[in-house]
Amino acid sequence: MVFTERELERYDRQIRLPNFGVEGQRKLKTAKVLVAGVGGLGTAAALYLAAAGVGRLMLVDKEVVELSNLNRQILYTTNDLGKPKAKVAAERLSSLNPEISIEALMVEINEENVSEIIKGCNVVVDGQDNYKTRYALNDACIIQRIPFVHASVHAYEGRLMTILPGKGPCYRCIVPVPPPEEGGFPVLGTVPGTISTLQATEAIKIVLGIGKLYVGRMLIYDALEMMFYEVKVERNPECPSCGLL
Ligand SMILES: [Zn+2]
Repeated sequence: MVFTERELERYDRQIRLPNFGVEGQRKLKTAKVLVAGVGGLGTAAALYLAAAGVGRLMLVDKEVVELSNLNRQILYTTNDLGKPKAKVAAERLSSLNPEISIEALMVEINEENVSEIIKGCNVVVDGQDNYKTRYALNDACIIQRIPFVHASVHAYEGRLMTILPGKGPCYRCIVPVPPPEEGGFPVLGTVPGTISTLQATEAIKIVLGIGKLYVGRMLIYDALEMMFYEVKVERNPECPSCGLL
């Protein structure tokens, strides 16, 4: 694979990085990353993944842009109200980086379609705000051995954990029973911004095969105290999802 002069210039500042180089850029260009949900987490994660040059980016979201999204879902503007999020996000990201291919899927991920949607992906980025879909993604990623970068936000707090199937705990190991769903929960817009940037960083490291991943640890970010906590988490040998790996 040959890069054009424009691509080499676009990615120059990361190609200069140790352990990155043109080879790292080539890995990004041939990678396929799924951003499952382009809300507060997914918009910012996708923005950085597109900027970094992930060759095939897939955005899945069935929602349309609402006014109450705009305090945190940074790919959308007031002119986008009522438009499908995945489509608008894909357009924005294409204008940021026309060198990559972006696929927008306006569907809700569920147990029936999830395995087909994630097939062939190198990484799945969790941009969900509901447990049902997150469990479906977790379970399908375990079966297909696809790394899954989980994140969640609530009020002033964000959480992050990278799931490497068979190498550390999965989401079901940590949260075996779904808590009650809470629609319209409070969230400070910068919190998903912070956490999703870390998600994109993990996704890039996974594709490049560099650094230490956030596996077996849950990161808890408390924006009010401006503190990051690391909680060690372990696999549940009885886990219905990953227990047999
Ligand atoms: Zn598990």
